[in-house]
Amino acid sequence: MSEKTASTAEAPDTVAATGTVGNFLWNLVESDLASGKHKGVVTRFPPEPNGYLHIGHAKAIYINFGIAKEFGGRCHLRFDDTNPVKEEQEYIDSIQRDVRWLGYDWGQHLYYASDYFEQLYTWAEHLISTGKAYIDDQSADDIRNNRGTLTAPGKNSPFRDRSAEENLDLFRRMRKGEFPNGTRVLRAKIDMASGNINLRDPVIYRILHAHHPRTGDAWCIYPNYDFAHGQSDSIEHVTHSLCSLEFEDHKPLYEWLLANMPVPSFPKQTEFARLNITYTILSKRHLTQFVRDKHVRGWDDPRMPTIAGLRRRGVPPEALLDFVKRAGVSRANAVVEIAMFDAAVREYLNKSASRYMAVLRPLKVVIENYPEGAGEELEAVNNPEDPAAGSRKVPFSRELYIEQDDFMENPPKKFFRLSPGMEVRLRYAYFITCREAVKDAAGNVIELRCTYDPATKGGNAPDGRKVKATMHWVSAAHAVPAEVRLYNPLFLRPDPGADGDPVKDLNPDSLEIIEGKLEPALKDAKVGETVQFERLGYFCRDTDSGLIFNRTVGLRDAYAKAQ
Ligand code: ATP
Ligand code: MG
Repeated sequence: MSEKTASTAEAPDTVAATGTVGNFLWNLVESDLASGKHKGVVTRFPPEPNGYLHIGHAKAIYINFGIAKEFGGRCHLRFDDTNPVKEEQEYIDSIQRDVRWLGYDWGQHLYYASDYFEQLYTWAEHLISTGKAYIDDQSADDIRNNRGTLTAPGKNSPFRDRSAEENLDLFRRMRKGEFPNGTRVLRAKIDMASGNINLRDPVIYRILHAHHPRTGDAWCIYPNYDFAHGQSDSIEHVTHSLCSLEFEDHKPLYEWLLANMPVPSFPKQTEFARLNITYTILSKRHLTQFVRDKHVRGWDDPRMPTIAGLRRRGVPPEALLDFVKRAGVSRANAVVEIAMFDAAVREYLNKSASRYMAVLRPLKVVIENYPEGAGEELEAVNNPEDPAAGSRKVPFSRELYIEQDDFMENPPKKFFRLSPGMEVRLRYAYFITCREAVKDAAGNVIELRCTYDPATKGGNAPDGRKVKATMHWVSAAHAVPAEVRLYNPLFLRPDPGADGDPVKDLNPDSLEIIEGKLEPALKDAKVGETVQFERLGYFCRDTDSGLIFNRTVGLRDAYAKAQ
């Protein structure tokens, strides 16, 4: 592990410095409550149900639900379901499951922007009647071309000065379904010369003859995000509308819309920086593509940065939230090292996970002076970090497995594990000495002949002699075979997609499947339980049937090595 990464990632004061209390959003809410501007705080988490949630959303969830919790307010879960073409019930269900898994609860405050379609429509008519919105018959291309650029103002649409009566009539006929998709839109009438392109008569309603997961075929015109979001906040009496920085340029439009309609309240938008992580893509568009084109096995593939993927990989929700807190909440865009995420997971699991022994690349060991047919049960500690976790019995016998790379026939100077003539400790068991390496015809070592010292039971020599290595092992006769899925970084570079399509940067070796030999107690691991395989890392029993484990995270920084 690189020194630098480890120390920044694991420094205990990082949480206090950038975590919950003390960041600018918490301070803002605290001062709004102290000044009496608001009596209570109401926030909302507003995902669009067009994909599964990812780690970036965990940050937005932490901020919105975390603030509500901290200040005794409430946080709504609101689905921004204004684009029926891309939205599905499966996503609605997964989002609710994931927010709950993170430990948050919206109580009875579950809302859908689609619940407000009738109200939004009424407000759109209000804008039209007051001369602040018009129906534009230009093609989508013409609208785009006439919008101008960052340096040149836009051009007024030839339809901009239609009368309110004509606009109202056309809008009602749009709703009735008289016109095909793309033939007309409703635009707010603001300022085609505005320095902010979002204010150049933005489109607020479009014709879309599409079935909606909730409203079915009731509508064939749909408000867009901008026209739904602020008004939904207002209807729900949200006090603080907290969103990521890409909405900063939309804020003047958010405020213009609220100011020009008879809305019940005036929520205030405040922006924070999105979470970005090295070796990770946090964009639903690309994640959807990986699933659709089968680059991964599904939304909950443990290589995915989705909350469902991380859960399946064995990441505990506490560790995920701890990482989000450590990454900090600010307005400065930054990229966080993935090593910091792994460190947070490792740190949490180090305290909570039970230890077991498992051999992933087995090499047979025969203890020549251990009686054939004999066996015994040795006491093993379940978690040295947690005495309350107790101990268990591990079977020992004449034939064992150790890791292939714990043996070297011709070891370099600093190799202290097993080699001919070398003595090592088998964890919780005995000292053993390697007498001979047996090879196959091709010269590969296939078995070690060893002897053990019966006086060293439990792992200590009564004469006080020391060994430099302690190795894990499993008894061959008792071992249970299991499929072990080893995950490597999904991308080969820290900034996937920087040269265009991130698919080009996918790591072809991101998944390696092997058969390991596990100590028998692991047969009873619960699905979703994360344990430590001693000296190897943390592993979680997979949801697929059979005995299958996913590597959650290794014990060392995999990324430092990769660079
Ligand atoms: P994506 O870009 O992945 O498609 P999105 O922003 O379109 O994400 P939404 O469903 O609209 O996805 O997101 C819901 C909320 O989550 C929004 O308020 C958004 O600001 C926030 N959010 C999304 N990605 C991140 C991120 N990487 N960091 C912090 N907040 C995020
Ligand atoms: Mg979005």
